[in-house]
This record gives sequence, C-alpha cells and structure tokens, in this order.
Amino acid sequence: ALVCVTGASGFIASFLVKLLLDRGYKVRGTVRSLTDPSRTSHLRGLPGAEERLELVEADLLKDGAFNDVVKDCQGVFHTASPFFLAGVTDPERQLIQPAVQGTLNVLEACSRSPSVAKVVVTSSTAAVAYNPKRTPDTVVDESCFSDPDYCREMKAWYILSKTLAEQEAWKFAKEKGLNLVTINPAMVIGPLLQPTLNTSCEIILKLINGSKTHYSNACLGWVGVGDVAEAHLLAYENPNASGRYLCVERVAHYEDVVETLRKLYPEYPIPTECEDNGSPKATPYAISTRKLQEELGLRFHSLEHNLKECVESLKLNHFTP
Ligand code: NDP
Repeated sequence: ALVCVTGASGFIASFLVKLLLDRGYKVRGTVRSLTDPSRTSHLRGLPGAEERLELVEADLLKDGAFNDVVKDCQGVFHTASPFFLAGVTDPERQLIQPAVQGTLNVLEACSRSPSVAKVVVTSSTAAVAYNPKRTPDTVVDESCFSDPDYCREMKAWYILSKTLAEQEAWKFAKEKGLNLVTINPAMVIGPLLQPTLNTSCEIILKLINGSKTHYSNACLGWVGVGDVAEAHLLAYENPNASGRYLCVERVAHYEDVVETLRKLYPEYPIPTECEDNGSPKATPYAISTRKLQEELGLRFHSLEHNLKECVESLKLNHFTP
C-alpha cells in the first residue's frame, strides 16, 4: 500500500518512514526542499528506500500543495509542524500558521482524495496538558485539552500552535467525515536518524555537554521515538483505532532524568543541583496511557533505555563533548 508522510525528514518522521519501509509500505514523503542533502540523504539510504520511497516538495502554507501529493495514498501521516521554543519573534508566522493552516491544507487534500481511508496527525501532549484548570488530582487523559487563552497569556507559542492545530483538525474531520486519529506524544527522545539536532534531543544534549549548571525545576512527559513511530503505525493499521492517543512512557522531574543520565554516563558534566525558581519542587502530573496500551497494544520502552539510545546516538553524530 502507498502512504504519505508529511515532513518526512524530521526526527519522528524519519523513524516512521523507516518503520513503514521495514513493514513493506510504499512511502511518499514530503519535504520543504529537495535540494538540501542534510534533510534527505539519510532517508534515501534507508533499507527499501531505493525501491519504495519517493520524496516530493510540498509547502505547508501553499493552498492545494498537497492535492497531488496524497493522490492514490491509502493513508496519510501528517507530522510536519515547526517545533522550537526559543527565538520566537513572530509566533503567528513562525509557529501558528504553519501548524494550523498546514494541518488544514493537508486535511483538505485528504478529504478530496477518494483513496485516503485514514489520516494520522502527530499532535502532542502540548495540546492536552496545558490548562490552568488542572489540579494535583487530575489524571490527564484523552479528554483533556490545553487552553488557548492560557497559552497566549503564558506566551507558550509552540504549545498554542499544537493546541489550535489539533482543535481545527477535529473540527474539520467532523465536518467532512474524515477518518482522523491523533497521536499525542510528550517529549520524544531516542536515536537520531537524521544528521541534524531536533528540539527534544537537544534538551538531553544540553544536560550532558556542560551547558547547564542547574537542571530545571519542572516535570515533563517522556517517550521513545521508536514507540512514537510504532504508535502511528498501530493507529493506522488497527481498523478500530479512533480519537486521540496519549503517547507517554512516564512523566518525570528533571531530577530523575539527570540521575539516570549520571548513572549511565558518570564521565559527563551533568548538573547535580536544581535551579531555584522560587517554587517548591515540581510534582509530576498523573497521566493515563491505557487507551494506547489497551486498544492498540503498545508497550513502552523505559526512560533509561530511551535516554541511553539518545546519548549513544548523540555520541555517534559527534554532538557530545
Ligand atoms: P523536527 O523539527 O525534527 O521535524 C519537524 C518537521 O516539520 C520537519 O520535517 C520540518 O521540515 C517540518 N516543518 C517545520 N516547519 C515547517 C514549515 N514552516 N513548513 C514546512 N515544514 C515544516 O521535529 P520532530 O520530529 O520532533 O516533530 C515532528 C512532529 O511531532 C511535529 O508535529 C511536532 O509538533 C510533534 N511532536 C514532537 C515532539 C518531540 O518531542 N519531538 C513531542 C510531541 C509532538 P524541514 O525538514 O524542512 O525543516
């Protein structure tokens, strides 16, 4: 079967493309530019790529750009969306438009193409957990949505972009009767297939390369990139898959992350002290990932396993000190 992966050169998408090729799919991947080999050569080198991977250029913001791209595809995985937290000077242009208009542009093309039976969108826990109504007793699950007003107030632009994009996706799917599933991962770590660093793996690099004197007083959800790719495929292949799937191995304080890293890599300058941000020690929020585990049968790799795979890959790619 032929499937499409948007933003094929990204960290998660590269893994998904590899998994799809390994499982015998024909893949049409979209990239922003075919002329930059650092974004495409790792894909062309994947087993099966020569025979079954086609790469095409498509601009998220160009109306109709995906109409030909999704033609004849049975499934579409929409992963392309900007993910960065620093250097946001024009949130609307840099993050929100490509996330929201890009998603609608892809979904519009899917709704016009009779071949497309299912669309899997890579959303995020960013679209789930960022809500001031959350109390220490809340168990975060698929019924939770982040609050756009709160995101704006906090100037949390990436989080806002993912929240609005997912809301619009569900609205569109409902109106047009499109078979949509979303995967909502937390911070994704693990080995990099591409030679460039993405935002979530950079967080791990900064904990081991001496750029941090203190770790953050914060808790984040973590999950391995292989599990995220597998969740996308399971959601596509399982005819009963529906709605959203939280994809998080665990929510952990940075303290647990640095402790695990120190145990694995005592040779690196990993911070030992927590920043003083004026708040008491952050406590992890409770999360339920039963839906993904029970409906789709995914088993998560551990944080320790994922951290190790991430650092080993950073070493191989010469990012480490
Ligand atoms: P990457 O930065 O590695 O990949 C992002 C992809 O989106 C790239 O292919 C990039 O294209 C494409 N893209 C970004 N901005 C634009 C734009 N303006 N126009 C066209 N294409 C664009 O990120 P990840 O693999 O980490 O993220 C992939 C998806 O997963 C995103 O939707 C992200 O929100 C989501 N996600 C990621 C998490 C994580 O921790 N990594 C957690 C939860 C969700 P190009 O190659 O040309 O730059």
